[in-house]
Amino acid sequence: MSGGKTIFKKIIDREIPAEIIYEDELCLAFKDVNPQAPVHVLVIPKQEIPSMAHLEFADQELAGHLILTVGKLATMLGLENGYRMIVNTGTEGGQTVDHLHLHLLGGRSMHWPPG
Ligand code: AMP
Repeated sequence: MSGGKTIFKKIIDREIPAEIIYEDELCLAFKDVNPQAPVHVLVIPKQEIPSMAHLEFADQELAGHLILTVGKLATMLGLENGYRMIVNTGTEGGQTVDHLHLHLLGGRSMHWPPG
């Protein structure tokens, strides 16, 4: 990870705007600026964890909280027919922002394999 703040840390610190739809003591959820589905939300921890690969068993409460928040938001956003949660991790995983984030995608049928 490079020295400066990531774009997501700047969103947490309210230094750049985002369409925040949910916040609690551990995490923040906001609309993806380049949506890949009618619903595309990112759930991020307030704690600076670069990626899924940096999570440890000591973080399991936070990890569970993030996953359960995705489920809660899916219900809140009316995705009763299903949705997809994605955690791109590392270069080959397609991760472009070095702050752990869970994508919540919904509102259309998803394809497999994802490519
Ligand atoms: P990933 O490729 O998994 O690292 O996902 C990063 C996501 O962050 C992409 O879907 C981007 O569209 C999204 N993104 C980048 N900058 C912003 C921003 N300022 N506000 C909201 N979403 C962003």
